[in-house]
Amino acid sequence: MSPENKICLPQNLAARLASLPRPLVMTNGVFDVLHRGHVSYLNRAAELGGSLLVAMNSDRSGRMLGKGPDRPLNSAEDRAYVLAGLESVDLVTFFDTRTPVDLLQIIRPDIYVKGGDYDMETLEETRVVRSWGGQSVAIPFVDGFSTTALVQRIRQSPAPLRKAAFLDRDGVINKDKGYVYRWEDFEFVPSAIEAMQKLQSAGYALVIVTNQSGLARGYYTEVQYQRLTQSLRQHLAEHGVKVDGVYHCPHHPKGCVPTLAVDCDCRKPKPGLLLQAARELGLSLSNSVMIGDKPSDKAAARAAGVSRVYSVDSDNAEAATENMDSDKHFASLLDCVTDLLINTSREIA
Ligand SMILES: [Zn+2]
Repeated sequence: MSPENKICLPQNLAARLASLPRPLVMTNGVFDVLHRGHVSYLNRAAELGGSLLVAMNSDRSGRMLGKGPDRPLNSAEDRAYVLAGLESVDLVTFFDTRTPVDLLQIIRPDIYVKGGDYDMETLEETRVVRSWGGQSVAIPFVDGFSTTALVQRIRQSPAPLRKAAFLDRDGVINKDKGYVYRWEDFEFVPSAIEAMQKLQSAGYALVIVTNQSGLARGYYTEVQYQRLTQSLRQHLAEHGVKVDGVYHCPHHPKGCVPTLAVDCDCRKPKPGLLLQAARELGLSLSNSVMIGDKPSDKAAARAAGVSRVYSVDSDNAEAATENMDSDKHFASLLDCVTDLLINTSREIA
C-alpha cells in the first residue's frame, strides 16, 4: 500500500478501523526525525497484535511538548508520510491535543503501547484503555537513539570545509583566443582534462573563476555564455570530471552594456568570485589553491585568503608580458597539478 493510503484524518477513522486486523495496537508520538530507535520500537509494537495504528502529534500538539521552539522540524504531513512508509505501520492519524486520550476513546484499541520507561499504572491512557478491557504496555526505547541528541549533533558539527582548486578559464583550461563564446571555438589546453581529473581524485573541489568582460563589452550575451558553460560542463562530465562551480564576472567599467559597465567586486583582481564560491560551496580558502595565468588571478586569490597560487604559461599577451610572481610557475596545467599533488602528499606524509 502506498504511504498516502495509510494516512487517515481523525474524522474518517471509523471506516478504516473496521478493516484493520485485530488485535489492534495503537501508539502515539511526534516521530519528527525517524531513527533506528523508532523503527525498532514500531516493529516491536506491531508484533503485539494484528495491526498497528500510529496517532501522531499535530504540529501544534508537538510544540506543546517543549522540545524546542523549532520542533517538530518536519511538518505533520511529512512526518506522517515517512511513518506510513514503514512496513510495521498500518495506519497513521493525528491528534491536536496534549495527550491522545480523546482519540484513544474513538479508536478503542485492544493494546495501547507507549515508548519509553513509563509507569503505565499511573497513566490516564491506561485507565481509559482498560475501561473496555484493553491492555496498556510500555516498550522501552533502544538506548543511544534520540532525535533531540541527533539534532544537537548535526548543529554542533558543521560539515568540514572542502579544499578547492580555483582555475582560471581562458589561458589555463582552454586556449585564450580572446573572448571565446562559442563551443566550436573552445579548444582545451593539452592535458587540461587529465589535470582536472587528478585534482578531483585528490579531493579538490573544482571551481572555475573567470572574468568575462566580453559580456559588458557586448561581444556576446549571458545566454551565449551560459550555453558555452553548459557544453563545457557536459564535456568534462563525459570525461569523469564534475565541476563544482563556474563563477564568472560579466562586468567591466568601460563596457558598453549599461547594466554591466560597473566597477564591481567580482572582477579579478577583486576576490568576489572566490569568496562567493567559498560561501556557496563550503570551501576552505586557506586550504585551497589557485591556478591562473595572469597577475589578476594571483591578486584575487591572495585577497580571498587562498594560500597557494600557481601560474601556468599562457598564450595570452597580457599574461606573457607581465611577471605573475606566483609561488611556482609551470609550462602547463598538467605539470602544475602533478607537482602540486606530489608536494601536498609529501606535506601530509
Ligand atoms: Zn564583476
